Amino acid sequence: MRISSLLALFLACASPTLADGLPDLGDTAQLALTPQMERRVGESIMRDIRLHDPAFDDDPEATEYLNVVGNLLVSNSQDARQDFEFFLVKDPTLNAFALPGGYIGVHTGTIVTAQSESELAAVLAHEIAHVTQHHMARMVSKEGQLSTAMLAAMVLAIIARNSQAGSAVAAIGQAGVITAQIGFTREFEREADRIGFSTLEKSGFDVRAMPSFFLRLQKAGRLYENNAPAYLRTHPVTTERIADAQNRIQGLPYKQTSDSFDFQLVRAKLRAGQGTSRDALAQLEGDLRDKKFSNETAARYGLAAALLRAQEPVRAAAELAPLLKTTEHPMLAGLAARIKQANGDEQGALGVLKQALVRYPNNRALNYAYIEALQQRGQNRDAASLLDEQLKNHPRDARLYALQAKGYAFLGKRLLQHQAQAEAYVLQGSLPAAIEQLQLAQKSSDGDFYQLSSVEARLRDLRAQLAQEMKEKKEKK
Ligand SMILES: [Zn+2]
Repeated sequence: MRISSLLALFLACASPTLADGLPDLGDTAQLALTPQMERRVGESIMRDIRLHDPAFDDDPEATEYLNVVGNLLVSNSQDARQDFEFFLVKDPTLNAFALPGGYIGVHTGTIVTAQSESELAAVLAHEIAHVTQHHMARMVSKEGQLSTAMLAAMVLAIIARNSQAGSAVAAIGQAGVITAQIGFTREFEREADRIGFSTLEKSGFDVRAMPSFFLRLQKAGRLYENNAPAYLRTHPVTTERIADAQNRIQGLPYKQTSDSFDFQLVRAKLRAGQGTSRDALAQLEGDLRDKKFSNETAARYGLAAALLRAQEPVRAAAELAPLLKTTEHPMLAGLAARIKQANGDEQGALGVLKQALVRYPNNRALNYAYIEALQQRGQNRDAASLLDEQLKNHPRDARLYALQAKGYAFLGKRLLQHQAQAEAYVLQGSLPAAIEQLQLAQKSSDGDFYQLSSVEARLRDLRAQLAQEMKEKKEKK
């Protein structure tokens, strides 16, 4: 993951007296970093990832799935009230990391290489435990009075320790601020394993996945040495961790669990998107030929997705057609629509999406796709009314506001376009960009008195928020 922009932010605020050495463990009541502060640190890192990191993957289907599994685990965790957001990082290597405040990033490679859904759940449960146990807050200095930007940079240093971003970490070291050996300690890893295990068990997953996953990782680490999965560098798998995990499953009754169809489809989709389109296609064709799959429908769905990506939409349609006859699933409908669009059948795509929405009216990915398809067909009024309805149910969805802005642009309504785009930026956490949009809205000459007053009021509100943010940053420096 690219962290250079954050590093720049950090170096700009660096002060040489912070965080000498590792802080002591302490109970959370004594932490300088309150849960609200943790959330703000996490938010500020998330904002940068969303806006600037090209590896941030906002695929709505895979993200939705990840959040369903993640939140099931959260509901069985030590702190079910903590808000969590799980997000995908487009990277074929195996890795997952927790930001303070409940933001958990998962490399797409983690899902692709997971041999079962329980293995993925084991990784997530471990990361969730890092958050509920406030490990990041316990790692950073108790000196207090750190600005959000400084804390964000320290957190990043912990995550990026010895990873591909090694040069960035080295630069932080040179700034004399953070010692390079910051990382989760053995105690924290042990605690995250222990608590993660219980979360995994309560959520009904196969707890055997934990030791088997560790063993596989250890083997991979030995095979590749310097090329070992990034996960191993941030969460070193020791013989002790493996032994602990094996001890925990001793005496537990055997429980058969099977992977959900959603997991299999998401894994197939991400596999189809990994590497070059030719490599992905060859791999998925090979797997089907050698019967290397646990679910044939999902394997064929993956092949159809890979064919579409390799710009062979006619073959993709032929591959998907028999699946659509036997299986109903929103992801199959979504792919069917994308294939029809690639084959130039916009009307057909609209029909598929409309029909699928009758059955799955609340599916976010289908709604986005339907709104976009309506806009592309020039049916902007239908798109706008669907957007209004969706925004009533999901008022914090930046993607919906961005689609609304696009729709108003099609209709030539400039004030409304900039106003909607401003709200998209607010939700993505960028107040300056939002303010700029509202200024453009003010200058557009197509608003009536009421619209202009509402733009003005919002502008005042956002300017006050920005001033407050700047003031806090200054005070904490
Ligand atoms: Zn860990």
